[in-house]
Amino acid sequence: MAAAPSEFDAVVGLGSNLGDSRAILAGGVRKLGSLGRITAVSSAYETDPIGPAQPIFLNGAVRLLTRKEPLELLRGLLEIERAAGRVRRERWGPRTLDLDLLWIDGLSLALPGLTVPHRELAARAFALLPLVEVAPTAADPGSGQLYTTLLPAVSAQGVRRLDERLDFGLSSSI
Ligand code: ATP
Ligand code: CA
Ligand code: CA
Repeated sequence: MAAAPSEFDAVVGLGSNLGDSRAILAGGVRKLGSLGRITAVSSAYETDPIGPAQPIFLNGAVRLLTRKEPLELLRGLLEIERAAGRVRRERWGPRTLDLDLLWIDGLSLALPGLTVPHRELAARAFALLPLVEVAPTAADPGSGQLYTTLLPAVSAQGVRRLDERLDFGLSSSI
């Protein structure tokens, strides 16, 4: 059996559409640094919401080299969400901070409470665009298909790249 990797190369998707989203996302980026070594931070993206009527989302992604096992990483993400005041009410409803584990290099997981790659990754422009920005050669671990090749299929979705990084230059002051 192959040895378990000592480090995982992971991409976390971030989203916020409640409260001071820019400050919340900047704080989220900073806190992700406690779970591993951040190797890339995407631009911020503006996304029209799906689900119930609600404010526009800000989204982005962070690439992380981490020694944490995937379930431990997910627990860390949920803790950061809680610290940002996330309350789960309705599915796809507004949220202060949503952290999704989008992809881990070479890994497919279907555990209770954790599916990797994220189930909706390939269908969502607001997840795919920042993912390929921080990990241009990322591929689906099952099929080997590069995520860049999936972009044309989601290009009609209303996602706009902003000329700002996801930490909005605020990380150091939070
Ligand atoms: P969606 O999953 O469609 O993006 P959501 O982000 O609003 O919806 P949440 O309420 O944040 O959904 O998460 C529900 C549960 O999804 C989490 O408690 C977690 O256990 C589970 N989950 C499964 N796979 C993942 C993953 N890859 N990243 C984050 N959560 C996941
Ligand atoms: Ca989500
Ligand atoms: Ca989530």
